[in-house]
Amino acid sequence: MTSTSAQTALARYGWDEDWADAFAPHAAHGLLPGRVVRVDRGQCDVVTADGIVRADTAFVTPHDPLRVVCTGDWAAVDPDGNPRYVRTYLPRRTAFVRSTSSKRSEGQILAANVDHAVVAVSLAVELDLGRVERFLALAWESGAQPVVVLTKADLVPDPVTLAHLVQDVETSAPGVPVIPVSALHGEGVDALAALVGTGTSVLLGQSGAGKSTLANGLAGTDVMEVRAARDSDGKGRHTTTTRNLLTLPSGGVLIDTPGLRGVGMYDAGHGVGQVFADIEELAAGCRFHDCAHEAEPGCAVRTAVADGVLPDRRLESYRKLVRENQWTVAKSNARLRSELKKDWRRRGLAGKAAGEAKRRSWN
Ligand code: GDP
Ligand code: ZN
Repeated sequence: MTSTSAQTALARYGWDEDWADAFAPHAAHGLLPGRVVRVDRGQCDVVTADGIVRADTAFVTPHDPLRVVCTGDWAAVDPDGNPRYVRTYLPRRTAFVRSTSSKRSEGQILAANVDHAVVAVSLAVELDLGRVERFLALAWESGAQPVVVLTKADLVPDPVTLAHLVQDVETSAPGVPVIPVSALHGEGVDALAALVGTGTSVLLGQSGAGKSTLANGLAGTDVMEVRAARDSDGKGRHTTTTRNLLTLPSGGVLIDTPGLRGVGMYDAGHGVGQVFADIEELAAGCRFHDCAHEAEPGCAVRTAVADGVLPDRRLESYRKLVRENQWTVAKSNARLRSELKKDWRRRGLAGKAAGEAKRRSWN
C-alpha cells in the first residue's frame, strides 16, 4: 500500500500531518503506524492501513502503569512476524487517567489522544451540579475539551425551564458548551454529531445518564448493547473482537472502555482549577496568597459568597474536590498524607472554634 493511501485509510481514525511527522523516524525503521482499538493481557488490536493487526505489547509494558499502551494510542508495529510487536507509541496529546485504589497509587491509563470529553447529564433526575463539576474536572485534567450534554431533554417539555437548566449548568461550567439532547425525539443529536464529527471523543457520566443511547445514536448501530451482552456473563472476558474505539458514520472516533465507564477519583488538580476558574480568579484578590477561604481575614472568595456573587454551593463543591484531589495525590506520599491530615485537623478545629465564637457572640 502506498503511503498516501495508508494516510487516507488512517485519517478516519484521526491520523493527521502532525502524527505523520512524529512517526517519520519509526517509518524510517520500517514500522507501521496504527491506532490501538483494544488492549488486553499483553496483546492489543491495532488498526493499520492494512486492517486490524494483533500485536504483542511486551515492549511497551513498562513499570510505570501510566506508560503502558492503551486504547487510542498511535502505535508503531512490526510490519510482520509472529508475533508482531508494538515497538513503541507516539507521545500522547491527551490522556485519561484514573487513580487506583491500591496503595501504590500510580494511576491507570484509560484512554489516550481524546479531543472531546462528552459529559452526559440526565435531565430525568434533579441536576447535581457538584457531580457535573467533578466530571468536568476529570475532563479538563485529561487535556480534552469538555462538552456537557443534557440528555433526555424530552422530559423537560417547557422551553423556559429547559433554558434555565442549561443556564445553571453553563454557570458551573465556564468555557464548556452545553447541549440539550433528546435521543428519543432527535433534538440536539445533529449538533452533538457535528461536534464529535472531528477528532476523538469519549462519553462520561453516571450510569443511566443515557451514554449508551447516545453512542448508539452516533454510531448508527447498537454498539453498546453488544458490549453489555458480553459483560453480562459476569466473567469480564475480553476475548471477543469487540473494539473500544470505533469510527462514526458522520466522522470522528468514539472511545468507550469499561474503565472510563466507572469513573471514580482522579488526579485532577489542574482540572479543578479550570472548572472553578471563577473562584481561582476571585482568590487572586485574597489577602493571603495561600488563603483557604475558610476563616482568613481579607478573603475575597468568602466576600463574593456574602455578596451573593458566588453561590455557596459552588464554593463547597470546590473545597470538596480540592481536598479529594489532595488526598488522591497524597496516597502515594505518606509524609504529605500526614501533613494534610494535620492541616485538615487544624482547619477543622479552627472552623469549630470560629463557629463556637460566633455562637457565643450571639448568646
Ligand atoms: P447509560 O447507563 O449512561 O449508558 O444510559 P442508557 O443509554 O442505558 O439509558 C438509560 C435509560 O435512559 C434507558 O432506559 C434509556 O431508554 C433512557 N433514555 C436514554 N436517552 C433518552 C432520551 O433522550 N429520552 C428519554 N425519555 N429517555 C432516554
Ligand atoms: Zn480567600
